[in-house]
Amino acid sequence: MSLPTVSTTVSYPAGEVAGKSPVLAVPVLPDGRWAVVVADTPFHPLDHTWPDQPADTGTLTVAGRAYPVVDCRTGGVGPDGGFAVAGDIPVRRGDESWAWLVLHVVDPVDGVDPDSLVGAEAVLAVDPDRRAGLSAAHTACHLLAFALNEALADRWRKEVRTDALGRPDFDSLAMDTSRIAEWASRDDYRIGKSLRKKGFGSEGLADELAAVEQRANATLARWVATGAEVRVEVPDAALTARRVWHCALPEGDAHIPCGGSHAHSLAELASVVVALELSEDGTELTARTAVTPAERTPNNPAA
Ligand SMILES: [Zn+2]
Repeated sequence: MSLPTVSTTVSYPAGEVAGKSPVLAVPVLPDGRWAVVVADTPFHPLDHTWPDQPADTGTLTVAGRAYPVVDCRTGGVGPDGGFAVAGDIPVRRGDESWAWLVLHVVDPVDGVDPDSLVGAEAVLAVDPDRRAGLSAAHTACHLLAFALNEALADRWRKEVRTDALGRPDFDSLAMDTSRIAEWASRDDYRIGKSLRKKGFGSEGLADELAAVEQRANATLARWVATGAEVRVEVPDAALTARRVWHCALPEGDAHIPCGGSHAHSLAELASVVVALELSEDGTELTARTAVTPAERTPNNPAA
């Protein structure tokens, strides 16, 4: 069976949750499950390089048979035709000599040859509730980055890289891991020697943490109240294209490179609230962000 040598195109950056596309290949994974590859999909796979937003789940229907999509992963086809999945991919996301595939993982069906699916049209349906929770949480996670940068801005003593709103970019300089869930996210930051060397003043942070949290929450509340537009800039439809998240905040166009999915506007969120926690030794800062969905009303059709 031959694998595609062109990357899967994706519609999730625009918020799509449904689509139709021909099946191009169905490689069998080492665990026996099938990885259905189509030309174009609304499904968001877990990124193998920066696994912040979890995979979409849903259903894929081929020739009248519905296959639950239990996982969605990133696959790569190398210049030599070799196929690798997720953590086994030896190159960074988007390496141009590789083809990047969305793998819709389904359980095998007795009596069905996976290759018999190739060429048929697949009807693709993402679980819309799960996606809505992940998209809202991802948008909130980016807002938190800007709000936290603002709340910590006066701790910097040296010039460092700034975010799109002009504040020292604590979020990207201190980022360790970022994990998005439905209507919630968790960011872990390292406040170690190298961050202090770059000019971050960490003394007294434990005592001031409640004030920092309050300040970030006030900023988040003010931003959410604007109902500002959110969009993802898509240079081309390929899975690993360099997309950029934008939000039209009162302070300006906040933007961050991003491979995930998002709300269409802050009007879809009723509130975004962060809770900060500092480790005993002061070197690990954890931000837990919770999102409440807005009620859909005639005055707020965006929700
Ligand atoms: Zn993102």
